[in-house]
Amino acid sequence: MLEMSKQTTQDTTVLVDEILHSIFFLGKINKPPISPERILGDRTDEVRALYPEPFKRCSSQLPRRSPFSCVLDMFVHLIGHKKEEDIKRALQVLISYLRKDTESKCLFSFTICISQAARDSVRYYGVSMSTSGREAGRIMVAASCCSAWDEYVAGAVMTYFPNKHKNMDIDGTIRLPENVRCEAFSLSDGRKMPPCRSCVTLFSLPMNNTGNTNINPNADIGKHAYGNCAEVESLSNLFKSNRRVKQRARPASESWTEMDKDKKKKDVLTHLRSLLNIVSFRWDTKFYSPQRARETN
Ligand SMILES: [Zn+2]
Repeated sequence: MLEMSKQTTQDTTVLVDEILHSIFFLGKINKPPISPERILGDRTDEVRALYPEPFKRCSSQLPRRSPFSCVLDMFVHLIGHKKEEDIKRALQVLISYLRKDTESKCLFSFTICISQAARDSVRYYGVSMSTSGREAGRIMVAASCCSAWDEYVAGAVMTYFPNKHKNMDIDGTIRLPENVRCEAFSLSDGRKMPPCRSCVTLFSLPMNNTGNTNINPNADIGKHAYGNCAEVESLSNLFKSNRRVKQRARPASESWTEMDKDKKKKDVLTHLRSLLNIVSFRWDTKFYSPQRARETN
């Protein structure tokens, strides 16, 4: 990310700042903790001079997204949203490089999803959660629900949070309008991935009825925690930019009122705090706001 942001004339330093904070946070809650200094090695001072905030806030504030979402944004930014195949290939190359080169923990996403309101319209991308460990994944889903994702997408995910059983009274699931594209692909071999059961439930995505037996690597995780999949981020990005599609996807259930939404969000925050207790993280209740790099001479 540091090298990529140097290669472009546009200012992408906010993304570098964001990924640093997200990685440092995950290092902080890892067992045993992994410090920013250990992650960056002899580049620590150089990076700290440009990006001081992630070092200061990784022990008190929560990231809004998991690290690989920042990498995805960078690639979409540098390559351009239209060049879908190039983006997929570039991410595949990066991931195979990361996996080959490391024996220790490696944070990357298994799938990418592309959503479009209609054929030839703007492409909105998303990747699956890139965390390691059970608590970290659930913390990131809760944090993204409360800070990053579009309200309808967050509402659908919150319906099944913290466990996979739906609250009987509240239903925030949505039905994606017909003809809206929401298609996921493996980032290890580029294969098309049918939606997992939780995405079918949350967004009424068409089930895989072609009889093929591709196993979605997310399906297993998805069974345990809704919100891990690339579809979630991709649809959230689509809804945030396209109000018309979003309106057509509004939750059908009359039980999904503003009051219910607030109540459910409070539940999610309560659960988030208990997860943070488990990993001994003292949260100041703020979500991190990424900064531009400092000017250095
Ligand atoms: Zn899914």
